[in-house]
Amino acid sequence: MSQIVLASANRDKLKELEKLINHGEIVAIGEIIPGWDVEETGLTLEENALLKARAAAEATNRVSIADDTGLFVWALGGAPGVYTARYAGESCSYSDNTAKLLNALSGEKPPNRKASFKTVIAMVTPEGEEHVFEGSVDGLITEELRGGGGFGYDPVFYSTELGKTFAESTSEEKGTVSHRARAMKALTLYLEEK
Ligand code: IMP
Repeated sequence: MSQIVLASANRDKLKELEKLINHGEIVAIGEIIPGWDVEETGLTLEENALLKARAAAEATNRVSIADDTGLFVWALGGAPGVYTARYAGESCSYSDNTAKLLNALSGEKPPNRKASFKTVIAMVTPEGEEHVFEGSVDGLITEELRGGGGFGYDPVFYSTELGKTFAESTSEEKGTVSHRARAMKALTLYLEEK
């Protein structure tokens, strides 16, 4: 398949996705339509991923993918979930979000700090064909920030598989277990089998 359009303006995500998919196969929508954006009004990750991918396929007339990720914390009834990016309010920073999460879990001990990241990737063709791929990873929310790498909630997400937080891991290590890598793997397997 020729280049796939990625409907995202998030530079951190683009950097990770470029490492996960063969170089040159993915082009950010901003390179085709500068300033392109769409409001995430869905109530689930799948709805949001689909609405972004549909809008991108329509705008570019090319096969488009979009992803949506949520952090689901057990003791918070699955919050922040679909509101993960905006947990501490509209236009909040990554550190506002992690501070709010650590505060919400203060005094809680494992297993009440159990959490999982889930990514849904939607792929939509200009002809209207739609596919959805998922990936998830389990872990624990730490009691303080740990590590200087990664982005978002990485300093508070302890991966039970890696035995450290995502922010203490290299991008290669994170790429072996992460929610996004697993969803991308499902997408690439599908593309290879086509
Ligand atoms: P998005 O749907 O991919 O934009 O993700 C929503 C929010 O989840 C982001 O703004 C980040 O705060 C957080 N997030 C997504 N992926 C990761 C990750 O791999 N590590 C840490 N936080 C993430």
